[in-house]
Amino acid sequence: MSEIHNVIIIGSGPAGYTAGLYAARAMLNPLMFAGYMSGGQLMLTSDVENFPGYPNGIGGPEMMTELREQAERFGLEVRDQNVESVDLSERPYKVVVEGEVFLTHAIIICTGAESIWLNVPGEEEQKGRGISTCATCDGAFFRDEEVMVVGGGDSACEEATFLTRFASKVTLVHRRDVFKASTIMYERAAANEKIEIKTFRQVQSWLSNEKGLSGAILEDPRDGSTETINVTGAFIAIGHKPITGFLGGQVETDEEGYILHKHHTMTSVEGVFAAGDVVDTRYKQAITAAGMGCQSAIDVEKWLEDNHA
Ligand SMILES: Cc1cc2nc3c(=O)[nH]c(=O)nc-3n(C[C@H](O)[C@H](O)[C@H](O)COP(=O)(O)OP(=O)(O)OC[C@H]3O[C@@H](n4cnc5c(N)ncnc54)[C@H](O)[C@@H]3O)c2cc1C
Repeated sequence: MSEIHNVIIIGSGPAGYTAGLYAARAMLNPLMFAGYMSGGQLMLTSDVENFPGYPNGIGGPEMMTELREQAERFGLEVRDQNVESVDLSERPYKVVVEGEVFLTHAIIICTGAESIWLNVPGEEEQKGRGISTCATCDGAFFRDEEVMVVGGGDSACEEATFLTRFASKVTLVHRRDVFKASTIMYERAAANEKIEIKTFRQVQSWLSNEKGLSGAILEDPRDGSTETINVTGAFIAIGHKPITGFLGGQVETDEEGYILHKHHTMTSVEGVFAAGDVVDTRYKQAITAAGMGCQSAIDVEKWLEDNHA
């Protein structure tokens, strides 16, 4: 008969590695499937300046390597493979990886949320350099520079307002003239004298020079006319997509696909827990993901004690 694992952790961002560290130190012999992007979203960024413990900041990939090493030192087994599907219809649960089935009493889902990008020419080259999807993370790198924000929802308006703390000018670019943002968020942005709002504009392509991002060509979707905007930073705030497809709808989510917690970090399925950006509609930071990873491992430990001791 196949071995039944205590807990399988799916995903290797800050949430996954922290869950792995705690579960390993609790002697649960956790197994992690790190996924197609081992290390998670921080592998895409050069500097992390807001994770406690690094007074001089740290490179994203370097930080994730250290988190992995720390968890592995206590016995976390990491496999750089993607989970294809899970079967949560009976216990032990089945986790399918490249055709192989792994049995487990508990699961921690830490698969994060993908930022939605514009996918226009020039974007790939400037991702994590001049173009970001996180103003809280990268805003401070654009002190006294001109930046733009793309989007028309609460996040776009909030990020534009937040960026005025650093940038000399923020242009909020939206493809329509109707904003999805709440009135208060929109009005706060509209009233800010550092913010210029450009409606009926969408990014046709990004421009760059030897220093990095230099601007964008904006197109008016009504008539195809174009104009050039000069900025050294751009923030795309058109939403995130939680990565939950492999769950096949077996775990309850909200309408956008974010997993719902039912009891502490446990989901709608007994013994299945979730942590990090895959449940987080609000904070989406490495430290909050790591904190929730810790909570989920402690919850798993207690649940296993009660159910499989
Ligand atoms: C460009 C950029 C810069 C950022 N800078 C900062 C910053 O400076 N400070 C900060 O606090 N936050 C920053 N963030 C946000 C931060 O990266 C996230 O909040 C954090 O990484 C979320 O962690 P997580 O563990 O929930 O998920 P993620 O880091 O998204 O990791 C998800 C993991 O799940 C894995 N996975 C997905 N599907 C599967 C599957 N089917 N099977 C197995 N594994 C799977 C992926 O491979 C990945 O390892 C930044 C984000 C971006 C995009």
